[in-house]
Amino acid sequence: MTEFELIERFFARAAGAKGAGTLVQRGIGDDCALIDGGDRWLAITTDLLVEHSHFLSDVDPAALGHKALAVNLSDLAAAGATPRCFQLAVALPRADAQWLDAFCGGLFALADQAGCALIGGDTTRAPRIGGGDRNAPGPLTICITAIGDLPKGAERGRDGARAGDDIWLSGTVGDARMALALRRGESEEVDAADAVFFHARMQRPTPRNALGVALRGVASAAVDVSDGLSGDLGHILKRSALAATLLWNAIPISDPLSRQPIAQQQACALYGGDDYELLFTAASAERDAVQRAAAAAATPVARIGRVESGSGLRIVDAAGVELGLRGQRSFDHFAE
Ligand code: ADP
Ligand code: MG
Repeated sequence: MTEFELIERFFARAAGAKGAGTLVQRGIGDDCALIDGGDRWLAITTDLLVEHSHFLSDVDPAALGHKALAVNLSDLAAAGATPRCFQLAVALPRADAQWLDAFCGGLFALADQAGCALIGGDTTRAPRIGGGDRNAPGPLTICITAIGDLPKGAERGRDGARAGDDIWLSGTVGDARMALALRRGESEEVDAADAVFFHARMQRPTPRNALGVALRGVASAAVDVSDGLSGDLGHILKRSALAATLLWNAIPISDPLSRQPIAQQQACALYGGDDYELLFTAASAERDAVQRAAAAAATPVARIGRVESGSGLRIVDAAGVELGLRGQRSFDHFAE
């Protein structure tokens, strides 16, 4: 069972079924749920970061504070919502003032920059697990629920792509996965400056909120790239019941990643997670509008492919030949 089969089988229910009434505009299946906020929609998203699973125990606490909020802001960006406030729940192995000062430094620097206020949460001690002398603190766990808003009529999800739409991507992809490859010793050593770049991309992702807002009324569908370009595009295609062709040569790769062997570039850029770039579709008539939105948000975007009728995702080289990438897939918490 994959992560998404699990969600669909056990958790996904019709949002209006029990109690929510007409309050819920969008429920499970998009980056944010939308609920009625009177003259606007409120967008709500939750992300959980668990030690060993999402970050290593020696993570820089300031970077972790930044990232815990950034991944939620990124979901608000996909929905085109302006960040407003968030709740923070933590299970801490210990009360370490120095660690918490650094964590809060990273967290609140991004919160202030985004105009997103902490309005509540919960704090517990992570239980000790194991027995006797081997009693070890349970994993550090951080859960943030972020809330933003957007005008009624500006809503977009993963289901709005149409055949013929262009596929666009902000920034570059693959850098965070390359950092993980270096940490795991899966790749050759790289230049020190390149390694610093990759680690910064993994530890301090840049949520694309200005672009997400600027694309209101322009993008037909959007998702943020958290699990990998191919898998996250797959969410748009599945929900929109469409196919797509991606042009490998059009996919933006950073200079440091472009110095890696081509197989490594492709594995990282197409299947690596943790980039938090915005992947979106827009009608070809909107190309100028997309470029204006990107300029207004001071965020680079690239047109990387096209939505088509049918099903499945093809990735082709400059000659139009499909890349031989079978067997690779984006990140899935429950993949065997
Ligand atoms: P994201 O990567 O943007 O956080 P996912 O693609 O992981 O979102 O999740 C897909 C959808 O499933 C989202 O709408 C999310 O809110 C929903 N979802 C994930 N886990 C649960 C759960 N335990 N209960 C209900 N909905 C869930
Ligand atoms: Mg998302």
